[in-house]
Amino acid sequence: MLDGFGRKIDYLRISVTDRCNFRCQYCMSENMTFMPKSELLTLEEITLIAERFIGHGVRKIRLTGGEPLVRRDMSDVIQRLGRKVNSGELEELTLTTNGSLLSEYADHLAAHHVRRINVSMDTLDPDKFSEITRGASVDQVLAGIAAAKEAGIKVKINMVALRGFNQQSLMPMAEYCATQGHDLTVIETMPLGDVGADRKLEHIPAEEFIAPLSDKYELRSIAHKSAGPARYMSVEPLGLRLGLITPLSNNFCDNCNRLRLTTDGKIFMCLGHNAHVDLRAAVRNEGIEAVDRLLQKALKLKPLRHEFNAQLDGSAEILERHMNVTGG
Ligand code: SAM
Ligand code: SF4
Repeated sequence: MLDGFGRKIDYLRISVTDRCNFRCQYCMSENMTFMPKSELLTLEEITLIAERFIGHGVRKIRLTGGEPLVRRDMSDVIQRLGRKVNSGELEELTLTTNGSLLSEYADHLAAHHVRRINVSMDTLDPDKFSEITRGASVDQVLAGIAAAKEAGIKVKINMVALRGFNQQSLMPMAEYCATQGHDLTVIETMPLGDVGADRKLEHIPAEEFIAPLSDKYELRSIAHKSAGPARYMSVEPLGLRLGLITPLSNNFCDNCNRLRLTTDGKIFMCLGHNAHVDLRAAVRNEGIEAVDRLLQKALKLKPLRHEFNAQLDGSAEILERHMNVTGG
């Protein structure tokens, strides 16, 4: 699949639910309302649509949300998409999770060809963790991560950089990841949805966030590439692989290979734009073949780049859609 700018699109992110058992302050407002269950695709529909996308050239799928593991019966989706990895039709099936239910799911994920996952954890400090997630337990997440490691799954920790909140948490996080053999990725906050906070105040460029590491360690750029937009460095002699995702300070849209399916059946071609096509009604009325036509339409809608910088400095309107709808 090629978009209107000639970019090859082969990576699908599926938000399987907009619901979550956490309420991270930069992701959601305190009193989030979620989509009515009647509007959601069934898990069977999600799987059929994903399989159709694979037929069109999708090679990597990431399940996300909301929290993907809170959706009941996720095991079936994992098992069916895992079969596509086993058959070679899919290169990779991965997951972004808050880790809270990993202890329960780790063996199932490993058994169905999930080789690596991203777990979001912004600090190791129990009080700060509880504060940023509005009440979750970091110990539960650490236990989940340990279960994933034990099951043989490679873990990458996602840490959102928040000015004035978790700058002091970076050094312990880097040292924990290095000791455990996990990769670490620092992500700049994106202005998605009203969360009742000043996005501009909490934003910190990833380079500035990681600067204190170079007082103690040597940071070397490395050529490592993953399916996503991170650029990587190694932190020596710690032996840590550190990724930076810099949507605001260093745009990476030129190499974007992604499309996103939401839990209510919309294809969004960019996290930072509202342009989308609606698959749900078409698939229900016309059958799964409707995906073929609407996918071609969606490819033409993919914008050249997001407008997060303009949204952050107030010259463009902030998108109403929160991150849990389109998934990370
Ligand atoms: N619940 C899962 C989790 O937290 O990993 C998956 C969904 S979550 C929306 C995916 C990723 O997006 C997480 O790493 C989270 O920290 C990140 N995220 C959420 N809101 C964000 C925002 N406004 N800017 C940048 N990253 C954000
Ligand atoms: Fe839930 Fe993930 Fe959003 Fe946190 S970042 S509220 S864990 S969806």
